[in-house]
Amino acid sequence: MPPPFRPLSQAEFASELMNYPWHARIWRVDMHHTWFPAHADYRSLASIEAMYRFHVHDLGWDDIAQHVSIAPDGVIWTGRDWNKTPASVGGVLNRWAFMFETIGNFDEGHDQLKGRQLESVVFVTRAVQKRFGLPPQALLFHRDVPVTAKTCPGTTVCKNDVVARVSQCDVGSVIQLRR
Ligand SMILES: [Zn+2]
Repeated sequence: MPPPFRPLSQAEFASELMNYPWHARIWRVDMHHTWFPAHADYRSLASIEAMYRFHVHDLGWDDIAQHVSIAPDGVIWTGRDWNKTPASVGGVLNRWAFMFETIGNFDEGHDQLKGRQLESVVFVTRAVQKRFGLPPQALLFHRDVPVTAKTCPGTTVCKNDVVARVSQCDVGSVIQLRR
């Protein structure tokens, strides 16, 4: 899904997920925060396009890094082609991951992951896991990878809390309706 980037609701995301012509086999969901833009910097589509330009023109990647970006208002922005390996935690570990960026800086003293944004984080994670028959634990935080010193997705985001929410998230009715 190259540009133009499109804003999706949770139901629209679920619909595209179920109807997508997948040939990638997803084994894991990877969670990041953007750090920049933080919440106060977020400008809707302009922010997604700015990330795209940064990733492609400055970093020399073949597309925006992430499969989707989750905005402070809970909107799910499309990103790179979902069948393409994301620029996620690095190297061979990127393969077979579905990767999202949570827009904000969730390190201590900055933004808070809550409300509609947190709901979409949980929803996207569970929906992708359901689509590929994965358990709630199939979620990697960037900082889980030993080769990074990053705090990503932010020191205030607790892995156990997110996994518990994912476990309790019922996406079944949304997904079945769209099948
Ligand atoms: Zn990260």
